[in-house]
Amino acid sequence: MKKAVFLDRDGTLIEYVLELTSPEQLKILPGAIEGVKKLNDAGFLCVILTNQPIIEKGKITREQGDEINRVLMEKFAAEGATINAAFICPHRFREPQHCTCRKPDQGMVQEAAVKFGIDLSQSWMVGDSLRDVETGKRGGMKTILIEGGEGGKEDEKFFPNAKPDYAVSDMQAAAAKILEFTK
Ligand SMILES: [Mg+2]
Ligand SMILES: [Zn+2]
Repeated sequence: MKKAVFLDRDGTLIEYVLELTSPEQLKILPGAIEGVKKLNDAGFLCVILTNQPIIEKGKITREQGDEINRVLMEKFAAEGATINAAFICPHRFREPQHCTCRKPDQGMVQEAAVKFGIDLSQSWMVGDSLRDVETGKRGGMKTILIEGGEGGKEDEKFFPNAKPDYAVSDMQAAAAKILEFTK
């Protein structure tokens, strides 16, 4: 079985923008490439899990969403950092029932776990919102919150009981924290 670090995208690896519709808007955050490299070296798969309801809302197509992730992964690869896969939930929140892939639901986690043979109990979820923390908790992972994210603030009222195992300032610090537990 492999171990993985599941990574939120917006506000975790790249600067949060309200609607990211073009690869030209991708701005990699300080520490993100270094952090992913450290996780690569320690034998973790790095897998992006991102909710992109702008796809179902019609602002971009599914293909454009995948293309944005492909360009992002290429930018990391050009610096020697490997992101192994990126999963998208393209759906919007809907009452009373929405899809099973939108974080914190487990569809993307389960799909990745099956595809790559991931042991979730040896894995982590890192993100800038309590939605990500809740996602990791539900998957039986340890969780790290990257503090100060703009996109995740509204999540506090939805997930008031989601407490991260650790809170850090950026992706490099998140990787350092994970490596403390994997010596
Ligand atoms: Mg985020
Ligand atoms: Zn979905």
